Formats: sequence, C-alpha cells, structure tokens
Amino acid sequence: MTAQHAFADALLHWFDQHGRSHLPWQHNRTPYRVWVSEIMLQQTQVTTVIPFYERFMAAFPTVHDLAIAPEDTVLHLWTGLGYYARARNLHRSAKTICADHDGRFPENLDDLVSLPGIGRSTAGAILCLAMGGRAPILDGNVKRVLARYYAVEGWPGQRTVSDQLWALAEHHTPHQRVADYTQAVMDLGATCCKRTQPTCPTCPLQANCSALATQNQTAFPGRKPQKPKPSRQRWFAVAIRSSGEVLLQKRAANGIWGGLWAPPELSDERSAREWLHHNVGVSAAECYLGTPFHHVFTHFKLEATPVYGRCAENQTHSPSVKFDDNDLRWFGLDPVPSVGLPAPIVRLLKTLGNDA
Ligand code: SF4
Repeated sequence: MTAQHAFADALLHWFDQHGRSHLPWQHNRTPYRVWVSEIMLQQTQVTTVIPFYERFMAAFPTVHDLAIAPEDTVLHLWTGLGYYARARNLHRSAKTICADHDGRFPENLDDLVSLPGIGRSTAGAILCLAMGGRAPILDGNVKRVLARYYAVEGWPGQRTVSDQLWALAEHHTPHQRVADYTQAVMDLGATCCKRTQPTCPTCPLQANCSALATQNQTAFPGRKPQKPKPSRQRWFAVAIRSSGEVLLQKRAANGIWGGLWAPPELSDERSAREWLHHNVGVSAAECYLGTPFHHVFTHFKLEATPVYGRCAENQTHSPSVKFDDNDLRWFGLDPVPSVGLPAPIVRLLKTLGNDA
C-alpha cells in the first residue's frame, strides 16, 4: 500500500469507529444544508453553531426560502455569530442560485466558487459531502492535521504555505469514499488533532506524524505574525423615548456591521450630542454619557461610549433633516427587535435600564 493510500485508509478506518455522526448537517445532506453549515463553521465552534444552524434551517428550510427572505430577518438569525459578511453573502448567493440556476446548486467547482462567499474549500465540501464529487478541502481542521503530519513550516495565510497544504490535501483525497474521507479528516482535526492538547495516542496517523515525532505538535500550523491592533474611538448617539423605544439606524451594506442596526455612530462626543440635538431635539446639555465598552475586531479595537438623550414620546426627527425611514427607525426592546444587531449593541441595549 502506498503512503498516499495508507493515510486515507487509516483515517477511514478510524472514522468508521470514532467519526461524528450526530451533527445536524450530517443528516438529510443536501448541498444547501452542507453549504450553510460550512459557512457557519468557518469562524465558529461546532457547539456554538448547532443552535444557530437549527434556527436558521427552521426559518429557511430551502435555498428558495432563504432567497426570498428579507435581509433583516437573515441578519437577525445571525445575530451573535459575528462575521456578518458571511450572512450577507449567503443571502446573495441564494438569490443567484434561484435566479440563475433554477434553485439548483452548480455541480462544478468553478461555478460554485463564483458565488459570493464560497471559497475553494467550501465548494469542495459541498461537492464531496452532498453531490458525490471528488475535490480536496482545506478548512482550519484539515490545515492543522496536514501541517502537523508533514511539519509544514509557516503561517497558512501565506501563499507558499497554502499552496503546499492544498497540494497535500489533493494528494491524499481518495477516489472512493470521498465523502467519508472528507468528514473523517475534519473530524480528526476537531476531536483528536485539536489546536491545544492533541490526543496523539488515539490518533490513526501517529505512526508517521512528523510533529509528534519531534514532540512539537502545537508549533504547527505556524501562527499569523501578530501586529498590535489599533484602537478606534467612537460615540453612539442613543435616543430613548419615554416609552423605552430606541432609535436605531441601518448601517451601510459594506464595512463593519454592514446591514445591521445600531444607534448612529459618531467620531466624537460633541458630534454625538449635536446629532441628538438636531434629530430628536435633546439639548446637548441634557445628553449624558453611559458606560464605555469595547469590542475587538480582526483589524482594530473599538472603544465606544454611549451618549444618551431622552425625549418625549411624540418627539421625532427634526423636520429639517431628511431621513430614509427604512434606515432610521424606533424600536421597542422587549422583545429584542427581529433585525440584525451586532452583539455589543445587543449588550448595550440590555443595559439601558442600568445606564440610562
Ligand atoms: S499524531 Fe497528533 S499531531 Fe499528529 S496528526 Fe495525530 S493528533 Fe495530530
């Protein structure tokens, strides 16, 4: 048996006894269900994803249901998962699949990766797991297994390292039982070859694993070079009616928190006070500061301070200021509005009773 076959055979043998079979997306495997699970799992742990996945599937059982849903509903069901571009891309791709492909997923890699948010690994997973095709995948779990097994140096975000890992992934993808192999290598990374404290004594690949041989498992894959994150200071103008309703603004589709709802964000305290004065008639002196909070994004740290302004029930926008009513709206907070809300804003709204 060649080393190529031995790798896949060892994994498949292990998978038959120890692979996961209880995950919700492993049942009734359709391209749509696999796709949604792969997108949710891109930056998020399985245990976090499961309840989000089940709610999402209950709301949108088919790609058609997702395509015709309002964006606010899609983003609402994503609230708490983070990386909202994933949800916007899912929605856009669902529309394209329905409009251009008659509601059916394309059955080749090139057409799949042309859809928004579907990269080569996600396309490979859809093809292998739901369509009986053969294509390598290289998600975070697979990168870790291959980088350790071959002691591949360097951060996988670098092109040369990524190319090396893709070549290894392609090399080991078998021609039979491709779906099981694909699931097996993902499962091994998730349950055995874990990021910290891999359980090598139970690993089917231990006999030839380079990282284990040198007891250097957690050095692979290489870490992303760390740069200090810059801080960005922002002020949120939080207008609150006597009834408890809060004024939220739908953010532009692109950029941080695109398409989500949040109190208007200003670059300094004075602008936040002026915004409240001009738009809901609260004088700058009546505005007051709330408890600052922070949130860490991939590229920067947000340091935010709420500026509160309380207004009467019938107080609304200044007639001199034109708002698109679709983008600026009063919301009651009980229950939490059924629109997309960034997690820090959900926390802010929950503390209004203490702060405001
Ligand atoms: S032997 Fe250990 S480090 Fe190597 S692939 Fe298996 S779990 Fe990962």
